Amino acid sequence: MVLLSAATGVGVAAQRGGGTRIQAGQECPPGATEVRPGNCMAPSDAPPSILDYRPRNTLVVGEHKVPKAKFPAIDVHGHPGNVGSADAINRLVGIMDSLNIKVMLVAENVSGSRLASSMAALNASPHKDRFRVLAGIDFSGVGPGWGERAAKQLEADLKAGAIGVGEVPKSFGLRVRKADGSRLRVDDPELDPLWQAFARLDVPAFIHTAEPQEFFQPLDYTNERWLELSLFADRRNNQPGGPTFEQLMTERNNMFRKHPKTRFVAAHFGWHANDLGRLAKLLDEFPNVTIEAGAILYDLGRQPRAAKAFLEKYGDRVMFGKDAFIPEEYPYYWRVFETTDDYFEYYRDYHAFWKMYGIGLSDETLKKVYYKTALRVFKGLPQTGWPQ
Ligand SMILES: [Zn+2]
Repeated sequence: MVLLSAATGVGVAAQRGGGTRIQAGQECPPGATEVRPGNCMAPSDAPPSILDYRPRNTLVVGEHKVPKAKFPAIDVHGHPGNVGSADAINRLVGIMDSLNIKVMLVAENVSGSRLASSMAALNASPHKDRFRVLAGIDFSGVGPGWGERAAKQLEADLKAGAIGVGEVPKSFGLRVRKADGSRLRVDDPELDPLWQAFARLDVPAFIHTAEPQEFFQPLDYTNERWLELSLFADRRNNQPGGPTFEQLMTERNNMFRKHPKTRFVAAHFGWHANDLGRLAKLLDEFPNVTIEAGAILYDLGRQPRAAKAFLEKYGDRVMFGKDAFIPEEYPYYWRVFETTDDYFEYYRDYHAFWKMYGIGLSDETLKKVYYKTALRVFKGLPQTGWPQ
């Protein structure tokens, strides 16, 4: 203790202020931090809330902002809102040009007449090859005969111009009810005729299953997504009686396994971006599955070495997708993928209270992630005019 006291003023204060002792393996009580092994101390000034603590970053290091992607990109997870008018399309194309997004896949999960009106506006536009459209699935009333009807609707939507289906929303698995009132499981056998139709028609199903795993955990101070769950109460999937994260993963994988000839795209890295070893295993087990990168940048950017190793190995199974259409957020993706910058800001505090690091992907992998994998998976994308 003499050494400790002599080393720093903090040690002295900890002793004088009667720092709390803890045993090995214990945590300090709330409001205190472990200043030396076994010794907890509370700050003398009231600490700021996590919202108000905004330390200036004093790290001086190279910065390479990337406003435009290095290679033309396909955003397979586009939620551009309305593409039903020439004005809306022209405005979108201007933004896409500024970011080097060559094609956006409109993943608004629409079917029938809503799909037809988007297709009509696009077909009348000089920019029609800047977009492709995914159809939707209407999961209401699943019961006997539903699968065959859904397969017919899929066929009609493809005839109308869709090149696949998506984004099948997270409500499938979490909230959608069957005709009999029970939760519609992702691996429900009534859906089999529909998944078989995807194989027969040779188009992919782009599906969002579950949510980040912390959304299923209690809202306490150990939850990485505390701020997000506190801001957006409807994202809490931790209510008793609801499906767990693991239950949804099991159901999803059952679906992948049961339909090996159907090509599935797991949105959001299948929510395994925080566990790339698990994701690698999934891709090894299911050759019919590819993944897209929407809304998981915060997990890649905090593990640049592991993410680089993963993407260099599995780049032909990975597609760029952004999800929310907020133009100023795309350059964060380009910067994480393309540079080796250290410790830079991410765009949403409530996703990540940490900083990003660049992965520095090779050109060949960038091309795969930005467009080559998508061109292979979504055969209806414009296939010509891409760099080799
Ligand atoms: Zn999604």
